[in-house]
Amino acid sequence: MMPVTRAAKGPGKRRSPGPPDVLELIAACVGIHAAPQQPGCEEIAWLKSRPRAASVRVRRHTCDCQPVVYELCQAGGLMFVRRYDRSNGVLIEESEWPGPMRSQLVRQMSWRLSLGWAR
Ligand SMILES: [Zn+2]
Repeated sequence: MMPVTRAAKGPGKRRSPGPPDVLELIAACVGIHAAPQQPGCEEIAWLKSRPRAASVRVRRHTCDCQPVVYELCQAGGLMFVRRYDRSNGVLIEESEWPGPMRSQLVRQMSWRLSLGWAR
Protein backbone atom coordinates (compact mmCIF):
# COMPACT_ATOMS: atom_id res chain seq x y z
CA MET A 1 0.00 0.00 0.00
CA MET A 2 1.20 3.47 -0.83
CA PRO A 3 1.60 5.72 2.18
CA VAL A 4 -0.95 8.50 2.15
CA THR A 5 0.48 11.89 2.83
CA ARG A 6 -1.95 14.60 3.74
CA ALA A 7 -1.46 17.82 1.95
CA ALA A 8 -0.62 20.72 4.21
CA LYS A 9 -3.93 22.28 3.29
CA GLY A 10 -6.59 19.59 3.05
CA PRO A 11 -9.35 19.38 0.51
CA GLY A 12 -12.37 21.64 0.75
CA LYS A 13 -10.28 24.69 1.44
CA ARG A 14 -10.92 26.17 -1.97
CA ARG A 15 -13.51 28.91 -1.76
CA SER A 16 -14.23 32.07 -3.62
CA PRO A 17 -12.06 34.96 -2.50
CA GLY A 18 -13.39 37.50 -0.03
CA PRO A 19 -14.40 40.55 -2.04
CA PRO A 20 -17.20 38.93 -4.08
CA ASP A 21 -18.77 37.54 -0.88
CA VAL A 22 -18.74 41.00 0.67
CA LEU A 23 -20.30 42.53 -2.45
CA GLU A 24 -23.02 39.87 -2.39
CA LEU A 25 -23.77 40.74 1.21
CA ILE A 26 -24.06 44.43 0.41
CA ALA A 27 -26.29 43.71 -2.58
CA ALA A 28 -28.64 41.53 -0.54
CA CYS A 29 -31.36 43.94 0.57
CA VAL A 30 -33.58 42.82 3.37
CA GLY A 31 -36.15 45.59 3.05
CA ILE A 32 -39.09 46.09 0.73
CA HIS A 33 -38.36 48.18 -2.34
CA ALA A 34 -41.20 50.58 -3.06
CA ALA A 35 -42.62 49.77 -6.49
CA PRO A 36 -42.37 52.38 -9.24
CA GLN A 37 -45.22 54.84 -9.46
CA GLN A 38 -48.32 53.23 -10.99
CA PRO A 39 -50.81 54.90 -13.32
CA GLY A 40 -53.53 56.78 -11.46
CA CYS A 41 -51.24 57.07 -8.46
CA GLU A 42 -52.69 58.92 -5.47
CA GLU A 43 -50.78 62.05 -4.47
CA ILE A 44 -50.12 62.30 -0.74
CA ALA A 45 -50.06 65.79 0.76
CA TRP A 46 -46.61 65.69 2.36
CA LEU A 47 -46.02 68.16 5.15
CA LYS A 48 -42.83 69.54 6.59
CA SER A 49 -41.59 67.23 9.36
CA ARG A 50 -41.79 68.86 12.77
CA PRO A 51 -40.90 67.42 16.16
CA ARG A 52 -44.30 66.61 17.60
CA ALA A 53 -43.64 63.66 19.88
CA ALA A 54 -40.95 62.71 22.39
CA SER A 55 -40.58 59.27 20.88
CA VAL A 56 -41.53 57.84 17.53
CA ARG A 57 -41.44 54.14 16.82
CA VAL A 58 -40.84 52.98 13.25
CA ARG A 59 -43.12 50.01 12.64
CA ARG A 60 -42.16 49.25 9.09
CA HIS A 61 -40.00 50.85 6.43
CA THR A 62 -39.01 50.41 2.82
CA CYS A 63 -35.41 49.49 1.95
CA ASP A 64 -32.74 51.94 2.98
CA CYS A 65 -30.77 51.43 -0.25
CA GLN A 66 -33.32 53.51 -2.18
CA PRO A 67 -33.14 57.31 -2.49
CA VAL A 68 -36.70 57.59 -1.13
CA VAL A 69 -37.60 55.66 2.01
CA TYR A 70 -41.07 55.46 3.57
CA GLU A 71 -41.47 54.74 7.25
CA LEU A 72 -44.69 53.76 8.97
CA CYS A 73 -44.35 55.52 12.33
CA GLN A 74 -46.21 55.41 15.59
CA ALA A 75 -46.14 58.07 18.29
CA GLY A 76 -48.33 57.04 21.19
CA GLY A 77 -51.64 56.06 19.64
CA LEU A 78 -51.09 58.08 16.49
CA MET A 79 -49.70 56.74 13.25
CA PHE A 80 -48.27 58.56 10.29
CA VAL A 81 -45.89 57.97 7.39
CA ARG A 82 -42.53 59.68 7.20
CA ARG A 83 -40.83 60.14 3.87
CA TYR A 84 -37.06 60.50 3.47
CA ASP A 85 -35.99 61.81 0.11
CA ARG A 86 -32.23 61.76 -0.39
CA SER A 87 -32.29 62.20 -4.16
CA ASN A 88 -31.36 65.88 -3.82
CA GLY A 89 -29.99 66.59 -0.36
CA VAL A 90 -32.13 65.25 2.45
CA LEU A 91 -35.81 66.08 2.63
CA ILE A 92 -37.88 64.72 5.51
CA GLU A 93 -41.62 65.04 5.22
CA GLU A 94 -44.61 63.49 6.93
CA SER A 95 -48.16 62.62 6.12
CA GLU A 96 -50.80 64.15 8.34
CA TRP A 97 -51.28 62.56 11.75
CA PRO A 98 -54.92 61.52 11.79
CA GLY A 99 -56.66 60.60 15.04
CA PRO A 100 -56.20 57.15 16.61
CA MET A 101 -59.48 55.95 15.08
CA ARG A 102 -57.95 56.38 11.62
CA SER A 103 -54.69 54.49 12.16
CA GLN A 104 -55.88 51.80 9.76
CA LEU A 105 -56.02 54.40 6.99
CA VAL A 106 -52.37 55.27 7.63
CA ARG A 107 -51.37 51.59 7.47
CA GLN A 108 -53.21 51.28 4.17
CA MET A 109 -51.47 54.40 2.90
CA SER A 110 -48.07 52.92 3.73
CA TRP A 111 -48.93 49.82 1.70
CA ARG A 112 -50.13 51.93 -1.22
CA LEU A 113 -46.79 53.78 -1.08
CA SER A 114 -44.92 50.45 -1.16
CA LEU A 115 -46.97 49.29 -4.14
CA GLY A 116 -46.56 52.52 -6.10
CA TRP A 117 -50.26 53.35 -5.81
CA ALA A 118 -49.46 56.49 -3.83
CA ARG A 119 -46.57 58.96 -3.78
ZN1 LIG B 1 -32.63 47.64 -1.14
